[in-house]
Amino acid sequence: MKKKILSLVLVAACALTICACGSGSAASTSESSDAAFTTVNSGVLTMATNAYFPPYEYYEGSEIVGIDAEIAKAVADKLGLTLKIEDMEFDSIITAVSTGKVDMGLAGMTVTEERKQNVNFSDTYATGVQVVIVPEGSDIKTVDDLQGKKIGVQLATTGDIYCCDDFGTENVEEYNKGNDAVMALVSGKVDAVVIDNEPAKSFVAANEGLTILDSEYVTEEYAAALNKENTALLEAVNGALAELKADGTLDSIINKYIAAE
Ligand code: GLN
Repeated sequence: MKKKILSLVLVAACALTICACGSGSAASTSESSDAAFTTVNSGVLTMATNAYFPPYEYYEGSEIVGIDAEIAKAVADKLGLTLKIEDMEFDSIITAVSTGKVDMGLAGMTVTEERKQNVNFSDTYATGVQVVIVPEGSDIKTVDDLQGKKIGVQLATTGDIYCCDDFGTENVEEYNKGNDAVMALVSGKVDAVVIDNEPAKSFVAANEGLTILDSEYVTEEYAAALNKENTALLEAVNGALAELKADGTLDSIINKYIAAE
């Protein structure tokens, strides 16, 4: 199988580490010098997500919670904005951002060259790994064993794209939600599911008889997607992320949801 080399902008991750300067707490009001950005709705940071991707975003009652929801809230606070989250299909998020319906997409979204044609990405805030879920005892032991098998994926995710490239579209079943792919695995409609590692852990914990292969598929970086025109908001979000990284907020949000291994 051809080796995947992801076209990730790792520089962004470095920038996040190094530029922990920003404007201190001055960015907390909309009068601050770096607040010359506009948002779709004045005073509101409108974020698109797909809230079926635990622990990054999921419902707790009627509220959307998770790593992305908390990071977005912390960014909004820094920028003096109220956060509003809109739940939609993962496949619609980039369009919602690029057509100016929302300010930002935050959805465990991987930075890819293709998506960069339509949106700008913020500095990265987390790492994800595409992993393979199989039934316990499956003859699929490594990523290469997926050859010729039926693979369930979430529509338009990087897992979908890589599997179509590497194993052929005819072998890939696309579902709107990751959990739908996992349900298809439980009922034997597909032989494996390729999905990001953290949601994979949640889905495996919630369904007996499933396991995650040790053999990892692709390592990726997550970032917020923003409208290409709104570079002022991109800079403001990056400034807020750098401050949240520097003061430990980002780590504490991630650690709250992801148990250390
Ligand atoms: N990280 C994957 C992607 O960006 C999946 C994200 C998701 O399903 N929310 O395509």
